[in-house]
Amino acid sequence: MNPLVSSPSITIDPALQMADGYSASELFAQSSGLTYNDLILLPGHIHFAVQDVQLLTHISKKIALHTPIVSSPMDTVTEAQMAIHMALLGGIGVIHYNNTIEEQAHEVRLVKRYKNGFITDPIVLTPQHTVADIDRIREEYGFTGVPITETGEMGGKLLGIVTNRDVDFVGDRSQALADVMTTNLITAEEGIPLEEAYATLEASKKGKLPIVNAHGELVALMSRTDLRKMRNFPLATKDDRGRLIVGAAVGTRASDWERLTALVAEGLDLVVIDSSQGDSVYQLDMVRRIKSTFPDLQVVGGNIVTQQQAAHLIEAGVDGLRVGMGVGSICTTQEVTAVGRPQATAVFQVAKYAQQFGVPIIADGGVSSIGHVTKALSLGASAVMMGSMLAGTAEAPGEYFYKDGVRLKKYRGMGSKEAMTKGSSVRYFGENSRILVSQGVSGAVVDKGSIRHYLPYIVQGIKHGLQDLGVQSVEDLHQRLRNGFLRFEQRSVAATAEGSVHSLHSYEKNVL
Ligand code: NAD
Ligand code: IMP
Repeated sequence: MNPLVSSPSITIDPALQMADGYSASELFAQSSGLTYNDLILLPGHIHFAVQDVQLLTHISKKIALHTPIVSSPMDTVTEAQMAIHMALLGGIGVIHYNNTIEEQAHEVRLVKRYKNGFITDPIVLTPQHTVADIDRIREEYGFTGVPITETGEMGGKLLGIVTNRDVDFVGDRSQALADVMTTNLITAEEGIPLEEAYATLEASKKGKLPIVNAHGELVALMSRTDLRKMRNFPLATKDDRGRLIVGAAVGTRASDWERLTALVAEGLDLVVIDSSQGDSVYQLDMVRRIKSTFPDLQVVGGNIVTQQQAAHLIEAGVDGLRVGMGVGSICTTQEVTAVGRPQATAVFQVAKYAQQFGVPIIADGGVSSIGHVTKALSLGASAVMMGSMLAGTAEAPGEYFYKDGVRLKKYRGMGSKEAMTKGSSVRYFGENSRILVSQGVSGAVVDKGSIRHYLPYIVQGIKHGLQDLGVQSVEDLHQRLRNGFLRFEQRSVAATAEGSVHSLHSYEKNVL
């Protein structure tokens, strides 16, 4: 069968398709490296609606995403709030490590506890604890609805539950929970299927449904807010226990092993080994050690931009590769070190090599428009990592401020002087060195509103791109990249100008 027959009425002529434009291999068979703005894709034949495009992909060998977008491990981009919302919307967030081990572990914990089918590790107290203990939990985790057991632990006999309603008007915060807890409980029995438990919870009109065993001991908890969230986010990236999936970055110093161990204890799903030049003995040793100690943890190595670098990391056992050196919006690496690669070439060359081993590529950095995401995917990336595009959203760390009447948020490189001074300087100095060479800048980005609106907007834009290419899935896109049916052209400087807004006195660009 002709693989190019794309609809009952239209047959695409392979010879004609190949006669126009260039395959990616032809495009990149030249001495200069190309970046996203240097190239353009030629349209295909549309035989499906935009809503028929689906973006299912992989960020690593074992972790699938419905949304091919990853938030960067930077201290102005990804902490728990960003990671939670990225995962709810089908992507994934990678928690930065410009903080203490405890702080990073706490962020991972917040994500893993955020949305659960059955919560198997809820915070539990005894009747002897006080209302002030509930206040402390509410402050730290932002929720109440704490089960009370004899032992103050899971597995203890369930005695009651304390919710907002029980404590809101208690004047004396040192009062024991025994005096305020609700004891008239609706519970479900261990072994109840998820859907049935949700139905019971819904019918009960309560906020929480404790799950108990035959001896009345607490084995799990279910929450109404989780139920609501689950319904609103059908694409959420979840583990097999219904918890959101989260990534975290670590370095390659001795202390990073202790850090990683603490993160794994919190249920970390994916670790990104964070370095601008990932092909080092430090990283290869780290990858091997992680794979032999924590075989279930997915490991993304990087950053890299060549096939040789990829070969070393793949041999060491990585499950994914992060591609991009010196191309981030806040980056001065190419200026300082003279090393790096234009991003389109880097993504294409590394993906071409890595795909033989089933190792997905994350195109990292240099993405400043939705079209760049579509180009990255078209060059073989399975997902795209973003910093500047996401740093202005409400879920990114930091407060908004105004400058010249514009609402902004701070965004800085992890190798900027400011970020290094905060905590990562050891990575740049080496312990004995005194001279600090920064490879990034500190700046600001404009307010993008909530990621809940912004990410679906980006996703819809990507779907329009794939529809214009006549491609219905990321898998199909990669297939056409490999067999040369995806056609490209290089753009001249004039063509690039033509492809942007031009010839106007003034205009307004609405992002949403
Ligand atoms: P890094 O920790 O990989 O390297 C810093 C220095 O420490 C390097 O000289 C490295 O060789 C050395 N080093 C690392 N592990 C060591 C060990 N165990 N023993 C001895 N020396 C060791 O960090 P980096 O490459 O400077 O990056 C810092 C941050 O900035 C990261 O968040 C990174 O993502 C970001 N960054 C990214 C890019 C990029 O292009 N993607 C560029 C610059 C910086
Ligand atoms: P952006 O999406 O173009 O803003 O690029 C984000 C990417 O830049 C990150 O994911 C990192 O790979 C990279 N990066 C982060 N901090 C620095 C830095 O200080 N210097 C250079 N690159 C950086």
